[in-house]
Amino acid sequence: INFDDAGLHPAMRRNVELAGFVNPTPIQMYCLPAINDGHDVIGIAQTGSGKTAAYMVPILNKLMGKAKKLAAKRPNPATFRPGIDLAVRAEPLVVIVCPTRELAIQIFNEARKFCYRTMLRPCVVYGGGPMRDQIASLAKGCDVLIASPGRLVDFIARPEVLTLRRVRYMVIDEADEMLHEDWEEEFNKILSGGEQEEGNVKYLLFSATFPKKVRDLAKTHLAETHVRFR
Ligand code: AMP
Repeated sequence: INFDDAGLHPAMRRNVELAGFVNPTPIQMYCLPAINDGHDVIGIAQTGSGKTAAYMVPILNKLMGKAKKLAAKRPNPATFRPGIDLAVRAEPLVVIVCPTRELAIQIFNEARKFCYRTMLRPCVVYGGGPMRDQIASLAKGCDVLIASPGRLVDFIARPEVLTLRRVRYMVIDEADEMLHEDWEEEFNKILSGGEQEEGNVKYLLFSATFPKKVRDLAKTHLAETHVRFR
């Protein structure tokens, strides 16, 4: 497949072009239709393979039709005054969990490219960053949240700031990097946070390697019908 016959929303098609992408990479050719058809996906992929866009493009593409409706429920981020204007609780539809601050910022920048001129709002939170600024950012509303696991768990404990009850897509990026740091407990909290109210959460798991801990996480949370890419 190519980007022209991937059934992209015009705003997404334009943003893909603005990003300078001419042809999809192999993992993108695989993930675009699989995610579009509603499958859970396990992607065994390295950095540089285009894996970020492989999940970002089809997921955001699905949300673009309702971007205006989502934006109507929150303050205008351009004019929002923290502490003065009424804050909203962040209720992201997409959560992307990744191991480091650097990667979180990189994924956030990719999300911004594909959200450009769509009214979808991405936010990023990570450990070591100022909590106050991150709360102020979430208070303007958030459709796509990129987070490191520790900081995400901190926010889950503050339901007035963030709830995962509306999550439709849960992406675990560089899963092997996170699970070797013994973050299973955090993961169970994060993954069950998305499951408590809405049943139909899609899971997308990306990992450079596929050790037992990652296989176990996939077995517990991903549907039987997952598609695997190598
Ligand atoms: P990633 O593997 O997600 O870290 O992406 C590696 C780099 O490739 C990033 O700078 C992307 O912007 C770029 N990239 C991803 N997909 C494509 C594509 N289809 N065509 C050209 N560049 C791409």
